[in-house]
Amino acid sequence: MVSEIERLRVELGARGYDILVGPGLLATAGKHIAPVLRHERVFIITDETVARLHLEALERALREAGIAYEALVLPAGEQAKSFEHLERLTDKLLAFRIERRDALIALGGGVIGDLAGFAAAITLRGVDFVQIPTTLLAQVDSSVGGKTGINSAHGKNLIGAFHQPRLVLADTEVLDTLPRRELLAGYAEVVKYGCIDDAEFFSWLETRGLDAIEGDPAARRHAIVTSCRRKAAVVARDETESSGARALLNLGHTFGHALEAECKYGGELLHGEAVAIGMVMAADLSVELGLCPSEDAARIRNHLAAVGLPTGFEHMPGRVWSPARLLDHMSRDKKVQDGRVTFVLLRGIGQAFVSHEVDPAAVEALLTNAIA
Ligand code: NAD
Ligand code: MG
Repeated sequence: MVSEIERLRVELGARGYDILVGPGLLATAGKHIAPVLRHERVFIITDETVARLHLEALERALREAGIAYEALVLPAGEQAKSFEHLERLTDKLLAFRIERRDALIALGGGVIGDLAGFAAAITLRGVDFVQIPTTLLAQVDSSVGGKTGINSAHGKNLIGAFHQPRLVLADTEVLDTLPRRELLAGYAEVVKYGCIDDAEFFSWLETRGLDAIEGDPAARRHAIVTSCRRKAAVVARDETESSGARALLNLGHTFGHALEAECKYGGELLHGEAVAIGMVMAADLSVELGLCPSEDAARIRNHLAAVGLPTGFEHMPGRVWSPARLLDHMSRDKKVQDGRVTFVLLRGIGQAFVSHEVDPAAVEALLTNAIA
């Protein structure tokens, strides 16, 4: 069994940590977590859906390792990333007399990871936490890199802190209970890593990506490990998003966020679906600007479509889109600098770069064309 687990390191000096990827990690979690604990007591934060499916396995594993625990179960869904739920959570932790050397465990998707991570960052001015991501999106993206936080009435993820976990356990088997639509949404972020700086990985995904989605153990592990390695490398270069390297991870997100904002972050369009459409638009924009071969843009579109992800506005036939409104959403993005919208563009698959120089007229023309 041990050989099926891959271990990689996020190199951040004293804040560095391991990511373990493979099958059966939930059932053996106690053994992996024990070495990073300062005290044999943890607080598990999870949501109702994940609790029903996977909490018992984690609790058993902790008991086997002699680790005491309390479990706090929140409602499932984005609304948990609010001041209201944060306050309830921190109140409960304090009522349980949490100590500085105790730790939190985030068992769930990105919502639980972001909320529990933020609670860990601010409770008693900071306690340790461990990520056990249970969605593909959380395994390849949100559990790695230390961004934690909640939403504000002014927008998503505007209140938060950088707080790195002590360990990430990505159990590839917990994804078996994830609805396919959620799995595919996470897969869009996997494709993103290939597009950014790993053309070889993109080619691998063209042949093995569907196997990873379908649950082939080796393919799934490779897709997750490679994604985590790409993200870990970027985070190691730019932990707090200050040098600009981390901005590359936003490929497809400038367009994607505008689409999500227009859909009011409802269930109509999942984040990963918006990113899939956004990556196609970023590639098309790069072609229009004479930067990227059209064959590369076509490969991206074809691969996303082949696995069942949306690639354009026809995905939501009932909705009326307005280029002006989408441009307005982009101009409000939190990555806007001195009024200039940040785009991640491509010179080809695996050759992404950040640009603040894109002419808004080119973006408007692209949107008008895509919506028609
Ligand atoms: P999520 O946490 O809401 O999970 C999606 C749904 O799947 C939920 O209903 C959940 O209950 C359910 N679920 C989770 N695991 C399951 C499993 N194994 N089986 C069955 N159902 C399961 O959403 P998400 O897509 O994982 O994360 C989205 C959040 O992540 C957003 O709030 C976003 O802002 C955040 N995010 C953060 C970062 C970061 O760097 N911190 C990066 C990307 C996204
Ligand atoms: Mg994303």
